[in-house]
Amino acid sequence: MFQIFLILILCFSAVAQADDLSDNLKRHVYYLADDAREGRGIGTKGLDDAADYIAAQMKEIGLTPPFDGSYFQEFDMGWGFEMGANNKLVYGEKSATTEDGVMPTGFSAAGTVTAPVRFVGYGITAPEFEYDDYADIDVNGAIALVMRKEPGEFDSTSKFEGLNTTLHAALRTKASNAKQHGAAAMLLVDGPLYADSTQAEELVAPPSNEAYIDCGIPVMRMTRKKVAELFPEFELAKLQRSIDSNTQPRSLEVTKDSVSLSTDLSRETVKVKNVGGIVEGGDNVLVLGAHYDHLGYGQSGSLDEKLNVIHNGADDNASGVAGILETARMLKKTPIGSTVLVVAFTAEETGLGGSSHLVKHFPLDMARVKMMLNLDMVGRLNDKAEFTVLSCKSAEEFSGIVDRASQETGLTITCKGDGYGPSDHMNFYLAEKPVLFFFTGAHADYHKSTDDADLINYNGAAKVTQLAYNTLREVDSFNSPLTYVKSSEPPDQGGGAFRAYFGSIPDYAQPDSLIGVLLSGAREGGPAATAGIKGGDLLVRMGKVKLNNIYDFVFALKTYAPGDTVEVEYMRENKNEVAQVVLKAPPQKH
Ligand SMILES: [Zn+2]
Ligand SMILES: [Zn+2]
Repeated sequence: MFQIFLILILCFSAVAQADDLSDNLKRHVYYLADDAREGRGIGTKGLDDAADYIAAQMKEIGLTPPFDGSYFQEFDMGWGFEMGANNKLVYGEKSATTEDGVMPTGFSAAGTVTAPVRFVGYGITAPEFEYDDYADIDVNGAIALVMRKEPGEFDSTSKFEGLNTTLHAALRTKASNAKQHGAAAMLLVDGPLYADSTQAEELVAPPSNEAYIDCGIPVMRMTRKKVAELFPEFELAKLQRSIDSNTQPRSLEVTKDSVSLSTDLSRETVKVKNVGGIVEGGDNVLVLGAHYDHLGYGQSGSLDEKLNVIHNGADDNASGVAGILETARMLKKTPIGSTVLVVAFTAEETGLGGSSHLVKHFPLDMARVKMMLNLDMVGRLNDKAEFTVLSCKSAEEFSGIVDRASQETGLTITCKGDGYGPSDHMNFYLAEKPVLFFFTGAHADYHKSTDDADLINYNGAAKVTQLAYNTLREVDSFNSPLTYVKSSEPPDQGGGAFRAYFGSIPDYAQPDSLIGVLLSGAREGGPAATAGIKGGDLLVRMGKVKLNNIYDFVFALKTYAPGDTVEVEYMRENKNEVAQVVLKAPPQKH
């Protein structure tokens, strides 16, 4: 009887507290995921308003501003572009403008090229399919005219993986390939074979809020109508039918005379900011973070079918921001010994920009950081309260710590995974800090306009927030430093499309002005690390391919198979170095 009575009291008090907590979480999520925040896209007022809200909350909770007396850590990042007036194509008396027939792609370089036009089919070089549009034609210095997609798009028996599209169909792959074959510019056209002839071709300007790294040559789309008008003797439909009928290239000269192609785009930068606050404490520093940016009106990364719709990102990641704010409130109320740096990161969705900047410009002594805990999407706990703590293997002690922390949270915990992952904790892991990643799992609304506040499980988020507090408390009470575990598995490169594995980790915060591929690390035991390549190195060449950016790197790597040895040139401390790298097959994931 007494026991039951006691349990009832405990339950009531716990419930009352949980109600406060889930109410607070709900308030934050509804504010951050309101349409008025504009999906917290880079460059929007909504993102700045969200930053102000978070800073005000931190102030109210009683956190100390960490950045020279400010809650904001501001920095510039490359974002979007402006299209100038000089985007056009001129051939003799005839011409095409953005109003009528041509449009630069978002990844086009700016410039003018005056050269003859060569048709190179689908613009594909695919030794694995024994197919090369560039085999019997010289495009050096020329403008390559390329069709979108790949041979046999609707042919289930096509050697280009039937109805699936291969990486060769990607426009960036085509641009890299054209550039590697010496083309000075590229024109893209939709082949007529599968096009809906009742629909007028419309070229839309690339969204100006798109992050881009230019591909090194001017690239323009051109309508079939304009192609026919400018080059009346060129028979696109016939050529496409011929290529598709037997998967044989039909590359040829389109013009003997020069065509003048101009693209006019300029790169812009925007000011963005991390928002942080400190819970004062002892020497050890624990970092608690969550990104507050999202996809705005559907920038790159959106999976929504609709264009230009607000992506509220209630789960991704208003939920995580709400979680760190309320964890901070609990830390102020019931302090632990360590200092806790609470940070809401910006520019996560565009490549972990905010956390990368913070790690490089850390407001406290980085050597004092014991671990980092990242909350990214914690609002969709399932009915059974099953919760997976990721990056659990980044320190030897984590499974014990998480186990103790989970007591009385009502969560059923699984603890797994290394420190790599597609969110901000990875930058701390690369800085050799143990990390934990809280994530309630992907769902149908992920990166869509339907990720809304009314779909959040606020009681579940309260449980996760309690776990975050408990975890920091347990890490704090663990007296020795944690044992960092370096993983030898590769980071997920997205879809396993790479046949050969190189084992390097790009620096996502590479400045646009830097030509090459800057690395933030190399996988222990991987091909790059074995050949002596490490974080900070700037890759400039792989085999014959000059590496201007990450896309060139992906392109180059695709042409090799596991077991191949490739010569890689890189810069270290302003000196050129060369390494022979033996590529491997990607290690199997567990
Ligand atoms: Zn996220
Ligand atoms: Zn996201």
